[in-house]
Amino acid sequence: MTSASLDDLRRLGVEQGWTFLAECPLCGSTAIAPLGLARDSFGICRCPECTIVFLNPRRGSTWPRYRESSMPHGFFARQIEFGLLSSEFEPDVRRITARYARIVTLVDQAPTGTVVEVGCGLGLLAFALRARSREVRGIELSEAHADAARRVFGLDVTVWDLFSAPPLADRSSVVVLNSVLDHQEAPVEFLRLVREKILRPDGEVVVASPNLRSTEFLLSGLDWPLFTIDRLWYFTDDSLAEVARRAGYRIAGSHWPTRRSVDDAAGLTGIYVHELLGLDVNVSGGIGLRLAPTGE
Ligand SMILES: [Zn+2]
Repeated sequence: MTSASLDDLRRLGVEQGWTFLAECPLCGSTAIAPLGLARDSFGICRCPECTIVFLNPRRGSTWPRYRESSMPHGFFARQIEFGLLSSEFEPDVRRITARYARIVTLVDQAPTGTVVEVGCGLGLLAFALRARSREVRGIELSEAHADAARRVFGLDVTVWDLFSAPPLADRSSVVVLNSVLDHQEAPVEFLRLVREKILRPDGEVVVASPNLRSTEFLLSGLDWPLFTIDRLWYFTDDSLAEVARRAGYRIAGSHWPTRRSVDDAAGLTGIYVHELLGLDVNVSGGIGLRLAPTGE
């Protein structure tokens, strides 16, 4: 962890050719404060007005929204974890479902009907959702990932760009965004377009992202491995809810481990710390919310 002033971050932007933001990119406040340099490389700021935490400086808008070579190491680790690279790959539905248990639970609670996962990548989560007897489709920016998801899991995946493509004629009851909003330059606009182009008016968006208010972050601070050049926003449940509210959604449900639903040692420890110290920290490494459009 390295401390840094706003001037240090501004200088870093000039050195790297990245854009330094003098205002909060969510609410426009000029009172932004530096948290420091994450992993000694990435400037991280927090807005005291809307509480959002964001990468600053960051790549400019000319940077492609998706690069094959930019996929985080976790993506490749997952291919190895689940044996996707082996020629004898057989999907283990129980293991894959367990990996995405929190999101699967939220989708189970969402309205019935077609599920579409935007940014489905290799299709692990979409595969787990299809195993719940859901009709599932995938949407991808990357032709290579769409191909892999079709080949490996037999998924129905369309290469489609939310920003430039016309609305889909066939709307879905549930739209899943797993660690997608945290990579968007404009997450509010992204959620608005999901409502305008994909989601049924009575549907819900299930959104998941890493959680800044987690024991994982509490223990590692700015050395948290999830700080990367491609992740522009570091949400808490509150700041993600604020993004959703600005995009015209209300919170229909969330997934937090409770004493009754704790299923692993990390969860137990987290709850213990939370209750002992009275910290405003959630035990989960991830945020999961169900969002319903408000019609505004
Ligand atoms: Zn702000």
